[in-house]
Amino acid sequence: MHKTKTTMAYTTVLTILAALFFVAFLLDMLPWTSGAPADGKVIEENPSLHNDEIITPEPEEPADTPLFEGNINRLPLEMIVDKLSFFQSPIEGARIGMTDGQLPGAPRSYRNGTHEGVDYYNGFCGVKIHRGVPVLAAADGVVIRIDHTYTEMTAEERAEYRRISAQSATTPEDILDKFRGRQVWVEHEGKVISRYAHLDSVSAELAVGHTVRAGQQIATIGNSGTPPAITGGEGEMHLHFEIWLNEHYLGENLSPNDVRFLLRNILK
Ligand SMILES: [Zn+2]
Repeated sequence: MHKTKTTMAYTTVLTILAALFFVAFLLDMLPWTSGAPADGKVIEENPSLHNDEIITPEPEEPADTPLFEGNINRLPLEMIVDKLSFFQSPIEGARIGMTDGQLPGAPRSYRNGTHEGVDYYNGFCGVKIHRGVPVLAAADGVVIRIDHTYTEMTAEERAEYRRISAQSATTPEDILDKFRGRQVWVEHEGKVISRYAHLDSVSAELAVGHTVRAGQQIATIGNSGTPPAITGGEGEMHLHFEIWLNEHYLGENLSPNDVRFLLRNILK
């Protein structure tokens, strides 16, 4: 009898425990029945414990990486031609002439400096050059400068700029910019920049940020920034055209023959 009573007591206790357990289970209060502990607090996830699960975003690719790091003129000539093969002539049908003085790298004693582009003059480039001849984008790109408004310097200003240049180690950049006259600059793939200078007019519908296609007219030939422009004369009518990458102009410190080889093969 004693044994039976004890067994009954155990059975009662076990039954009550089981019932409590079942109620707890139904109320979702047991720690292993849900992600949340019984007291309802949410344990903060420590991200450092799950490093391998964190998706690291891809590093931002620069919109456009330079075509070449440093001075492109240090590359073998064929390699330069290959890299810049997306260019074409800025004047339809024009070719690079034989005159060294019209090439990048030629000395410019009048301003104590160096020529940084190639000149397309009438009688030297195989096509007629006069005021109003279309100037074409030499490659696909985006306009980064376009001089819709331009005021020609006076004779006195020009004399002053020449005087300052003569006293400097080379032509100061702001003065050189005046001597280039009305300009358009276009940035191409690989951060290569082309500059078109001495322009008579620029395309009215173009603005900074606009995309241009190779061969698209962007301006017309003029003589702005040259002495005849001050008096309204037709002398010095030509396109001055430059290619830049990483603060170096194409042809910098190269021989005239090397520069001619480059330009003839790039600006076809
Ligand atoms: Zn020039």
